[in-house]
Amino acid sequence: MQQLITGMEILHVAAECYPVAKAGGLGDVVGALPKYQNMLGHIAKVVLPMYRTKFLYENNWEVVHKSGTSLGNWWFEYTIIRESTNKLGFDLYLVDINGLLDREKVYGYDDDNERFLAFQIAVVHWLNSWQHKPDVVHVHDHHTALIPFMMQSCYDFQRLRNIPTVITIHNAQYQGWLGWEKSNLIPRWDGWNWGLLDWNKAINPLACGIKCAWKVTTVSNSYLEELRYNSNGLEALFEYERGKSSGILNGIDTDVWDPATDTYLDKHYSVKTVDEGKQANKEIVCRTFNLDIEKPLIVFIGRLVGEKAADLLPRAIEDALFYIGRKMNFMILGSGEPHVEHQLSSLQNPYVGYYNSQIGYNEKLSHQLYAAADFLLMPSRVEPCGLNQMYSMRYGTIPMVTKTGGLKDTVKDFGEPQGYGICFDHPAVGEITHAVYRAVELYQQETKVKNIRKKIMQLDFSWNTSAKKYLDLYESLS
Ligand code: ADP
Repeated sequence: MQQLITGMEILHVAAECYPVAKAGGLGDVVGALPKYQNMLGHIAKVVLPMYRTKFLYENNWEVVHKSGTSLGNWWFEYTIIRESTNKLGFDLYLVDINGLLDREKVYGYDDDNERFLAFQIAVVHWLNSWQHKPDVVHVHDHHTALIPFMMQSCYDFQRLRNIPTVITIHNAQYQGWLGWEKSNLIPRWDGWNWGLLDWNKAINPLACGIKCAWKVTTVSNSYLEELRYNSNGLEALFEYERGKSSGILNGIDTDVWDPATDTYLDKHYSVKTVDEGKQANKEIVCRTFNLDIEKPLIVFIGRLVGEKAADLLPRAIEDALFYIGRKMNFMILGSGEPHVEHQLSSLQNPYVGYYNSQIGYNEKLSHQLYAAADFLLMPSRVEPCGLNQMYSMRYGTIPMVTKTGGLKDTVKDFGEPQGYGICFDHPAVGEITHAVYRAVELYQQETKVKNIRKKIMQLDFSWNTSAKKYLDLYESLS
């Protein structure tokens, strides 16, 4: 295990990786962590499914492996390709399985379970053919959570059983449940180990990953605590496995998320020029979306789902505009539950000039909004880590957050000593409107706002600390 100390080889396996394919924070993390691990002198590699994304067509690839294996009775051929220029700062491998993975979207197909199962089988099959072994296999969320089981319990992969595995849980709501009738899709495995696959009479890939991985991490300490009493059915498991679990806060990729160089922005700025810089970006956004430049701009960016409390936004916005008065602007960017999308679109008409929304996923606009906004609203019910609040602070935008998960670990209310954000206890309409009221009041205190902006832009949310914590964890497995 000498190698563990000098330079480890870490294989990350995931469903998302920015800028190749991203649906949320998972993509950001898998796009950044390996880069920082490499900068610390290790060899981190990433493997993900070959979707038909823009990145695929715009880059150069070489075939590194071709083989075939089976998903139950279905024999399939797979090809592993590697991006040939090391563009992302780490080796990126994509797994092509014709007809199954090569689709435009990352998720949302009826056969997602089979798609990710075939992906995992191909990865382990390929890994089994390597001449050497990586020092750690690090999997992320339920899409890749069966890999530790396959490495330890599938007869064909016995030579992989001593490779340490780590699972990071970015979101425990989704667990990838499979009926037991699908157990034949997993490559021949030791039937005595059925208990590792099972949770509440179904195959539960996330639960299986938690049981089989050598170490479990969640993306913040508070989230790990919360999972013991609220994890969509896995509460007891998180309690049983607490001895091998720890929280490591995500970082942000400060190369991608830097208002001084961000290629999505028309006007760049730094800590020194933050006030003029934000004003210039706000002007552009207010002009584009017909909002009032004089009033504070409060934005929401994210998935329009229950976890983010997006369902509360329409009522909270209407109440704020009614009770507090038209003293602020709201701008929403997101996609998700159709009825929430519909409600948020319907608010455009009655509140023209104070409210606007863009339904859909738009990376460029998200950067522009982080730069233009005065406040970023995140009334989440569940927030494993949350990256938006860290991006917003990097761009000098004051976060308004519920005290939950990673939000609790990263934002301190401006009413407390050394505080800089707006925090509230519960995701409830009344608490959101009260937070909006506090934002409007704070906005009137120009000097205070300027000081907070400068302060939050200088907080260190980079990967430097967290990347080291992962390396310490891997080293503990030697
Ligand atoms: P989650 O992974 O739960 O969705 P995170 O806060 O960890 O939440 O990460 C969300 C990421 O997705 C951020 O980079 C955010 O800017 C981005 N994002 C979410 N919704 C959109 C959208 N509609 N358009 C552009 N970016 C989005």
